[in-house]
Amino acid sequence: MRTKWGTCNIDRKRIWINLQLAKKTPECLAYVVTHELVHLLERNHNEQFQKYMDTFFPEWRVVKEKLNQQMLDYMSE
Ligand SMILES: [Zn+2]
Repeated sequence: MRTKWGTCNIDRKRIWINLQLAKKTPECLAYVVTHELVHLLERNHNEQFQKYMDTFFPEWRVVKEKLNQQMLDYMSE
């Protein structure tokens, strides 16, 4: 699983985090780490995945929105 902010290798149980996130707020980092960790439980972005996110990081939708917005800002720099 690869996104612009993080990568999860499910088979090796390893996650990689984009260093650009260090410039963001801690909640953004927490969101991406949680997202990648949930991939260890659920491979796909399906309903079950969202349930895990709701459990571990209830505000994830808000942070995701913010991150997407910041990514647009980042790319237009
Ligand atoms: Zn993902």
